[in-house]
Amino acid sequence: MILLVQKVQHSLLGKSGISLSMARADLIHPLASGNKIYKLMPNIEFAKTNGYSELLSFGGAFSNHIHALALMAKKHHLKSIGIIRGEEAYRTNPTLQDAEKAGMHLEFISRQDYKRRNDESYLQELQQQYPKALIIPEGGSSQYAIKGCAQLAKEINEAYEKNIKRRSDVITVACGTGATVAGLVCGASKNQTVIGYAVLRDKSLQKRVEDFIHAENESYKNLRIESAAYGGYAKFDETQLDFILDWLEQTGILLDPIYTSKMCMGLMQQIESGKFEAGTSITMVHSGGLQGWRGMKLRVVKLMGAEKWQKIEKHLPKG
Ligand SMILES: *Cc1c(COP(=O)(O)O)cnc(C)c1O
Repeated sequence: MILLVQKVQHSLLGKSGISLSMARADLIHPLASGNKIYKLMPNIEFAKTNGYSELLSFGGAFSNHIHALALMAKKHHLKSIGIIRGEEAYRTNPTLQDAEKAGMHLEFISRQDYKRRNDESYLQELQQQYPKALIIPEGGSSQYAIKGCAQLAKEINEAYEKNIKRRSDVITVACGTGATVAGLVCGASKNQTVIGYAVLRDKSLQKRVEDFIHAENESYKNLRIESAAYGGYAKFDETQLDFILDWLEQTGILLDPIYTSKMCMGLMQQIESGKFEAGTSITMVHSGGLQGWRGMKLRVVKLMGAEKWQKIEKHLPKG
């Protein structure tokens, strides 16, 4: 994949002496989340070489993963099945509309049933129902995903060396399941620090990330996890939306409401409070997630009015 890494200037950097750049995984596909593509590719290769003709996975009704999986499956001539948490009424939202248009078969299950998504007995039932399907965990976060995101770290380093300088000292990314940050740790060089900004309050995250890394026989010495949950998963307020609009104005880069904007806020707060030495170079991963904005219109308009929503909408890539 062709990955652009570009320098970013922002007034919040002030006199910190930090050199900031962004790895634009959001540009790999107009709407499918960048990190999800890296996570899915090794899953798709495994499916193809092992005779699976379908991909099945799980997600919420606005899931970046479900969305990317539907689009990538179509591209690679595989069928796809999405097991969606919640009611049938979600079928008409922009995320699931895209997925259905790409040929995904959607099944809606209750929040109660969705809790069984990792249970062995449930997975066996699903496998019997869909014998040709490779079953991929929520978020795409199988061990194959770790390999895909290790590749992402290597591409970041190559692009950075080519465009900017020798190497970035720090790579940062937003964390949900933690598979992406785990893969980045595996692919980073030993003297780089990888920081994951957790957008969920999840006590099991650190251990899960360490287990992913351990399973690749790699060390997690250079891993840091920071909290960036703010109001909670998928919650946002005016302060966050103002941050996003300001970032857009100053850099020309649109962040997403759930993941990348929270990573960015967390990182900029740490830079402002002097957590990084002057001279440190930091590369943030823009993991994508822009498709998620389309389902947020009403909430954004209610919080900050139609005019500000239009600024965001204008920058949304067309599917
Ligand atoms: C899914 C997602 C993440 C989190 O990835 P994990 O591997 O689950 O930690 C980050 N950013 C975006 C845009 C995502 O869609």
